[in-house]
Amino acid sequence: MDKRLIETKKTGICNFDYFCVDSTAKEITINGTTFPHGQIAWEMSMLGKEYITELLMLGGYLHQSFLRADMCSFQIGNYIEIRERILSVIDFIKNTPPFAHFDTQCSRDVVLDVFSDEHLKMLEQESQENPNFKHSSRWYQMLAAFVNVYMYLCTDTANFATLILNFTQNAVEQNCRNAKSLANLALIFFSSREVADLLDKSNPAECVEGVTMRPRATIVPAIPFDANMPDAVEIKKRIYYGRMMDFFVADFFDALACGYYLWQCKYCGRYFLMTSAHRQLYCQTPPPGEKHPCYKLAKNRRTATEETKANKQAAADNPLHILWKKCDDAIRKRKSRGSITADECAKAQAYIKDCYERAKRDTAYAAQKYETDMKMEHIFKQH
Ligand SMILES: [Zn+2]
Repeated sequence: MDKRLIETKKTGICNFDYFCVDSTAKEITINGTTFPHGQIAWEMSMLGKEYITELLMLGGYLHQSFLRADMCSFQIGNYIEIRERILSVIDFIKNTPPFAHFDTQCSRDVVLDVFSDEHLKMLEQESQENPNFKHSSRWYQMLAAFVNVYMYLCTDTANFATLILNFTQNAVEQNCRNAKSLANLALIFFSSREVADLLDKSNPAECVEGVTMRPRATIVPAIPFDANMPDAVEIKKRIYYGRMMDFFVADFFDALACGYYLWQCKYCGRYFLMTSAHRQLYCQTPPPGEKHPCYKLAKNRRTATEETKANKQAAADNPLHILWKKCDDAIRKRKSRGSITADECAKAQAYIKDCYERAKRDTAYAAQKYETDMKMEHIFKQH
């Protein structure tokens, strides 16, 4: 057998449970596609709250199913349920970047194999012969490892997306726009108690090792070789990961090291990846419903009246404002039907205006109480 010191395969493994990424100073290649460092972090910043919440829920269901199965004697049905939970995670993420860069079909096939009926029957037999089989059975341990991989994938995504948004907010506030100031910010940010606590608290299971900033990765030299492109040979590091968070963090730090960072567009509020020394304020992509990218729109939006108009529109699109408007309309309707007096109407309007103003100032109130206070029965109970 020939023994190689260098990996020459065009691409390596790209399954969710174990994968590798080819890395150079400024880029990574995953499953045959090349991106700048930081692209993954940018894609994470675009996932959105609802998406992440749903992914966390799927991870939670998986965790619960596993806890239930682990508590009692081995029953095949419980593990079929776990298999379905894992597949539902894969199906949920498979078309969304950064997950879409992985070999999703292969990940699916591996799960179907590890949790195949045949393997589950084998485990059932083992469990009947040996009550301690969970500690001795390699198949059982592999199966449990798979559950961990997918539980972690869900929480790692949520945690990292939160971290990235916080970090970027800090960078924008402190105007950190070069490798040196980003390194300084990273030092302070990632050694803070709050960040450590955030990571500690959100572990999916207490029994397994926590999230760490120290990637557990294996690095091997690689010179991916494609016979069709003999001129494209380049020396890379092939990095193997067993956990998403390690990959996310490593790539994000590689990005900062070469001065790549996320920035918030002043026009649309979305994040974008900066890979040059230009101090761009606006992103290059059109906001939803627009034809032109933000930097063009921003250029065109110069007159004061237009500015005011845009601000008014932004306020009108705010969910707090939408709720206020809905209540205000309902109160007016009651008055025009004669079911409340002019005085009651004025009082109710003053009350909802107060609630709205407070919600704008106080995010905790807005999140927890504003909606209840704005219910019709509540509005009229006040008087
Ligand atoms: Zn923009």
